[in-house]
Amino acid sequence: MNSTISFADLGLAEPLLRAISEAGYTQPTPIQAQAIPHVIKGGDVLAAAQTGTGKTAGFTLPILHRLLEQPTRDRKAGRPRVLVLTPTRELAAQVEESVRVYGKHAKVRSMVMFGGVNINPQIAALSKPLDILVATPGRLLDHAGQKTVDLSGVEILVLDEADRMLDMGFIRDIRKVLALLPKQRQNLLFSATFSDEIRGLATGLLNDPIEISVARRNTASELVQQGVVMTEQSHKRDLVSHIIRGHGWHQVLVFTRTKHGANRLAEKLVKDGLSAAAIHGNKSQSARTRALSGFKDGKITVLVATDIAARGLDIDQLPQVVNFELPNVPEDYVHRIGRTGRAGSPGSALSLVDSSEIKLLKDIERLIKRPIDRIEIPDWNPATMVRKPASGSADEERRHADPRGRRNGASNGRGRAPARKPASGRSGTPAAAGSSAGSRDGGRRRDAAAGEPKP
Ligand code: AMP
Repeated sequence: MNSTISFADLGLAEPLLRAISEAGYTQPTPIQAQAIPHVIKGGDVLAAAQTGTGKTAGFTLPILHRLLEQPTRDRKAGRPRVLVLTPTRELAAQVEESVRVYGKHAKVRSMVMFGGVNINPQIAALSKPLDILVATPGRLLDHAGQKTVDLSGVEILVLDEADRMLDMGFIRDIRKVLALLPKQRQNLLFSATFSDEIRGLATGLLNDPIEISVARRNTASELVQQGVVMTEQSHKRDLVSHIIRGHGWHQVLVFTRTKHGANRLAEKLVKDGLSAAAIHGNKSQSARTRALSGFKDGKITVLVATDIAARGLDIDQLPQVVNFELPNVPEDYVHRIGRTGRAGSPGSALSLVDSSEIKLLKDIERLIKRPIDRIEIPDWNPATMVRKPASGSADEERRHADPRGRRNGASNGRGRAPARKPASGRSGTPAAAGSSAGSRDGGRRRDAAAGEPKP
């Protein structure tokens, strides 16, 4: 693709070009350069693209263009012309925000709907004419069941992050939604990965699509500096705290496998004096929005998230990702570390790995086709962090550990002081394993968490 191509070359209407220029974009990204002209012509698209590639504008801009070029005589309340399905509330909100940004000079009405919030304001909003509806599948079906939305006028369907929708078990909901749409329509399917299942969905859905692939799915693994710290599960929370404070990191996204684990880690970090918040599916929408904006604004240093909650979050150029636990699926590791090092800025990703995760680590290394460096954390001595068996106050024990961590943290802001080998595998005494943290968090918990938890 010609790197000097401009948005005007792609044939976009003037109100859109104005919005693009106001957004500060000077050049289309590769996915935009490929998708926009094709979508403008009415073609179907099958695109392999992750968040960060500019995919949202890649479908939003040409869709807005089509709506502008072909105004309908048939604009009715609650009857969208475009339906965008996303797996998560956050992604739905971000996509609709993009529609507003790019459509600010186009007279187009959009709306976002997702579950977990009161349905009545959505019903009220649906009583007005509507062009673009961005929705998560479950809530959309609720509305369809109540006949508060009418999908018979949908001209363009977008499935965004289709792979994640399948992972989250939305396939039946998607099929139910498809059954409510007119047969004649344009379809755009975006997915970070092209599994057989995605191809199966695409085959039934898309009509002679162009296929666009803008980045190999493991590209992030080449851009991001990665490291593994071998440790014990029961030491992980102290270790995360020690590492973040020791390096003086100011914006860290930490992945946990469970909602419960996310909460507990965030609580622990707050107790250790860090500003931290957890984001996952059990949190109210307002709490999630608050946490995300606090993180983006720099008020929150550490955002602890489950995979699904973090998916699709538009947080640019994140300097640091920490995997508190490795994900079950190696591809999720690539998604996770893809949150950092975006837009060419260097990022790094650190994974805390215990002995039960070694197989997962090997799978990841096979996927990214390279070993990940084993790193030793300076001044980390888990023995001093070990808590007494349940009778002791964990907080009290932590206070003993803290001053040391803080002092080291202050003097060690440069990061890599000569490492002392973390005595992993040896330092954890039976007492540690039986401590209050160990019994809740110990190696066995991975088995309980092995089935991917809900976000
Ligand atoms: P997305 O992949 O859609 O999540 O977009 C990732 C980020 O890239 C968003 O913050 C967009 O605002 C930004 N973006 C999209 N297109 C462009 C462009 N052509 N030039 C610069 N930034 C862009």
